[in-house]
Amino acid sequence: MSDPCIFCKIASGVIPADLIYQDEHFVAFHDITPQAPVHVLVIPRQHIASLSEADDASLLAGLLEAVRKISSQLALVPAGWRTVINTGTDGGQTVMHLHAHILAGRFMQWPPF
Ligand code: AMP
Ligand code: ZN
Repeated sequence: MSDPCIFCKIASGVIPADLIYQDEHFVAFHDITPQAPVHVLVIPRQHIASLSEADDASLLAGLLEAVRKISSQLALVPAGWRTVINTGTDGGQTVMHLHAHILAGRFMQWPPF
């Protein structure tokens, strides 16, 4: 069996991360290289390489529900936040385990570069 990816290792506790949320299906932790005052990653415990391979609608709904719960936990309302799911090479994805970024604590420019 191949070596689990880094986010699988975080989800299982094999390598440490600054966890801020976990439930049966999802784990959230602070990004190691924050791009905003608040930068959290939300991942499914299940290894799914990217959004393009995520064909479980209930898991995808659960991912967004976890983002919403965490936004409340971090008091990001009413100021707001940005949710990003980088997908594939052109999308800028560097870790091939589906994850949603929560970016907050400053105004987010548009368009992203
Ligand atoms: P992406 O470029 O969308 O694939 O995002 C991957 C993110 O994972 C980047 O923002 C990295 O800084 C972050 N990252 C990589 N390794 C770790 C780690 N061990 N703990 C926390 N965040 C990580
Ligand atoms: Zn994984």
